[in-house]
Amino acid sequence: MIAVQPFEYVRAGALTEAIGEAGTDGSAAYLAGGTTQLDLMKDGVLRPSRLIDITRLPLRGIEHHEDTLIVGSLTTMEELAADPVVGRRLPFVREALLRSASVQLRNMATIGGNLLQRTRCRYFRDRTVATCNKRAPGSGCGAITGAHRTSAVLGTSTSCIATHASDLAVTLVALDATVHVTGAEGPRTIPLTGFYRVPGEDPSVENDLRPGELITAIEVPLLPQEARSHYLKVRDRASYEFALASAAVAVTMRDTRVESARVALGGVATVPWRAVEAEAVLTGAEASVALFRTAAHAAVAGADPRPQNAFKVELAQRTLVRSLQSVTGVNS
Ligand code: SF4
Repeated sequence: MIAVQPFEYVRAGALTEAIGEAGTDGSAAYLAGGTTQLDLMKDGVLRPSRLIDITRLPLRGIEHHEDTLIVGSLTTMEELAADPVVGRRLPFVREALLRSASVQLRNMATIGGNLLQRTRCRYFRDRTVATCNKRAPGSGCGAITGAHRTSAVLGTSTSCIATHASDLAVTLVALDATVHVTGAEGPRTIPLTGFYRVPGEDPSVENDLRPGELITAIEVPLLPQEARSHYLKVRDRASYEFALASAAVAVTMRDTRVESARVALGGVATVPWRAVEAEAVLTGAEASVALFRTAAHAAVAGADPRPQNAFKVELAQRTLVRSLQSVTGVNS
């Protein structure tokens, strides 16, 4: 049995107080919905010296603007899924949220926490396994030499092949959402497409947040009124399961041509994967299943599969083709 490391609990009443309590040495952690974080602390994977409860901060709610939503980081997944503008203008965001978790979890989990959720790689979550570069830098990668059926095929390195687990982030990357953060050096914004880091040599660094920085909001551009979007998630069982492959697609059409396309993949990459190569193939072209297959092929051109997860290269392509068929209504 693993003993939980003692930690100090602080409930912050104001944003400046939370940031001050967090400091900049990286030893503190923020607590919001806690749906992943508390599990990881109980398992001894996360061991903050100080836990700063931010649930009382005024970071919950959705601001509606003409072309964007500003989603407070403490907004719950269920609140965002139930927002009528999301239902009308960002239906694939709603689909991704509803396919992410049960309603009980969606009522607890926050949008900020969802974007920062940790990988489900079994070696990362099991402290009795010695080899995990993400948890213990320099220790090796248990998945590469062990079980890696669910691991990533895109954005991998020889240090880590863990998939990013968020469904929501896949749609938000496709939308060019922006993350608003604040910390000891003040507020700043980071495009979500540049927020996540592929593992490289040090997979313990997963994003561009500086020690002590806090996500305050996510700015989400709305799709054009005429756009159609879809989030297709393929998994081993129909609910309560992470994606083996997923595709977030949003298109506008001019007659039978694809006027614009936004494409991202989930479940197959170390970060939510924007498929710009697929978008380039689709944009301006006559819609057909053959075109969708060419786009899907382009989306996985850089894949680096391993023996147990080679099937994901084909699965990702089929998932994307099906998603494109669904949004365009083109089936031949
Ligand atoms: Fe750790 Fe990444 Fe290897 Fe999983 S894939 S064991 S998270 S280093």
